[in-house]
Amino acid sequence: MIVNFEGSLNNKLPQIGPSIFSVMSAMAYAHGAINLAQGFPDFDCSADLKNMVSKAMENGYNQYAPMPGLMSLREKIAVKTEQSYSAIYHPETEITVMPGATLAIYAAITALIKDNDEVIIIEPAYDSYIPAVELAGGKAIVYEMAFPDYKIDWNQLKKLINFKTRLIIINSPHNPTGTILSSEDIRKLEKLVENTDTLILSDEVYEHIIFDGYEHQSVARYPKLANRCIIVSSFGKTYHTTGWKMGYVLAPANITAMIRKVYQFMAFAANTPIQHAYAEILDRPEMFLELGSFYQAKRDYFKQAIKTSKFKQYACNGSYFQLLGYEKLSELNDIEMAKYLTIEKGIASIPVSAFYKRKTDHKVLRFCFAKSEDTLSKAAEILCKL
Ligand code: PMP
Ligand code: GLN
Repeated sequence: MIVNFEGSLNNKLPQIGPSIFSVMSAMAYAHGAINLAQGFPDFDCSADLKNMVSKAMENGYNQYAPMPGLMSLREKIAVKTEQSYSAIYHPETEITVMPGATLAIYAAITALIKDNDEVIIIEPAYDSYIPAVELAGGKAIVYEMAFPDYKIDWNQLKKLINFKTRLIIINSPHNPTGTILSSEDIRKLEKLVENTDTLILSDEVYEHIIFDGYEHQSVARYPKLANRCIIVSSFGKTYHTTGWKMGYVLAPANITAMIRKVYQFMAFAANTPIQHAYAEILDRPEMFLELGSFYQAKRDYFKQAIKTSKFKQYACNGSYFQLLGYEKLSELNDIEMAKYLTIEKGIASIPVSAFYKRKTDHKVLRFCFAKSEDTLSKAAEILCKL
């Protein structure tokens, strides 16, 4: 064991400890609890996809990929984006592959935000946004969606916009609430930012996990808005490969150039054989086109299985998260409740207060249903007994 350094250290994120995802996954593991906390599938990805990675390795694709990503993969992403959203992004200048959406978000924020720039964060929000903004020297301006509908009142949000507002971060389908933005939402956003210098970072990692006949409203569908948008997506969500950490960024050429400038010093390039595999699997669009119905069946299975429980079920139209309110069950705050359920009852979830800067607690927990029916039914059995 090395003795701690005794000099002074710059603590750049003094308020921040380990992420709630690490904390709850470790707790689930330590207590042998069913882990519906951190968002990842408990089933395997496609055997064909794994074979494609092995084949790429066997074929000697084991050295650096080009900095913005393999051209073959960027071309396939361009095709998928055009087919999905009727939007044309040029592989050479407008598409960049990176090691995961978290890093892509960090690269974009680092590239575009500087001292005292304001960034509007819509809460509850994925936990990486605010630290990324603050590390870049920016200021996070928080807008809390009204509980219990988790909808954005754009007239309220408008009041937060001023000449310092450099970026607004949106996320649909939404983690943790499972809500989605409608075309009306996007139109309102478009209106809000016209004639401003405000950019939009649109986190669309769950773009293909959308239910009940809704179509994902990618900002790419809205040409007037898209010229100020940075869209981030993740192959990890789409192909059940969260551990492979691969995502991409779509943005107009001038914004992409700024992001790439920073990104080349963060990772330089993403994993080569895995890029080959995704380039190959993108020839099978049914894999992402069927994802919505695949996860909708899991959502429905889980919701049905916990129907007799005392939990309040919130609406979920996308993502693989179901919010459950436990007001009828306990007076504990949500962090204590999540701990209690993990340690005493054997089921782990994420307290939704973790997605708020102010740690707003509505007595709601997030459960990930990207799990096998067996796992979901065991989880439901526990939840129904409470
Ligand atoms: N954004 C949101 C909303 C997420 O839920 C996740 C999943 N962790 C990410 C970004 C990051 O994705 P990745 O695993 O590709 O970094
Ligand atoms: N996106 C996943 C979640 O929300 C995992 C995030 C993470 O582990 N950083 O649970």
